[in-house]
Amino acid sequence: MLDAVLSRTPDEVAAHAAAAADLPALDAHVAECFACPRLVSWREEVAAVRRASFREQTYWGRPVPGFGPDDAAIAILGLAPAAHGGNRTGRIFTGDRSGDVLFAALHRAGLANQPTSVSADDGLALKHTRIFAAVRCAPPDNKPLPAERDTCAPWLHRELSLIRPTLRVVVALGAFAWAAWWPALAAGYGVRPPVPRPAFGHGAQVSLPGAPELLGCYHVSQQNTFTGRLTPAMLDDVFGRAKRLAGLA
Ligand code: SF4
Repeated sequence: MLDAVLSRTPDEVAAHAAAAADLPALDAHVAECFACPRLVSWREEVAAVRRASFREQTYWGRPVPGFGPDDAAIAILGLAPAAHGGNRTGRIFTGDRSGDVLFAALHRAGLANQPTSVSADDGLALKHTRIFAAVRCAPPDNKPLPAERDTCAPWLHRELSLIRPTLRVVVALGAFAWAAWWPALAAGYGVRPPVPRPAFGHGAQVSLPGAPELLGCYHVSQQNTFTGRLTPAMLDDVFGRAKRLAGLA
């Protein structure tokens, strides 16, 4: 990673995100963010205490940057890193059950070179796809506060701006990501979100002039995948549609 600047306030997040010239710079700056006291405490506590099965590992314990090529046509927007997944491994959706489901689907769709994602150095590479979260630090109970979401938004908005030249489709995993898209749309594309906002749903699609297509997908959480609310076939359908909309199939 490049040299990064520390961000300790919302104003610094906004300034440093805006100043990031490319994705490597953005990723480096994100990883040095300390602007949300509650989330900083939580991510570091989780990293210090650790889960028994990972006791021998050194947790990342930092904000988790996006992952994937800088010329992505498809963006997958999640909620936030998992405490013992991305917050442990340092790569989004890596090392947890949600990632197992997501990357298996991306591999079936031809968007990942392997079906598993277990560590940051496992050789995984995405094709045409970049994954990032609306909030970059693991939150307690997977629930960021509205103020934390808003503080973190400039990282998301800048990331979208940097891949805007090639971005064609955004897949929002869950209602939180869906809601986070509207301010990003206004900030990154100058497109005014519809009023009222289109409702989130699995398979929902929003087409707006001058903006990427938006697809809704149930989040790949265990709550959804273990109960059958979200099946592999449903994910295959979403990523197949995303590829077609992006001109990749
Ligand atoms: S959630 Fe975002 S803004 Fe808050 S500390 Fe983490 S990276 Fe920084």
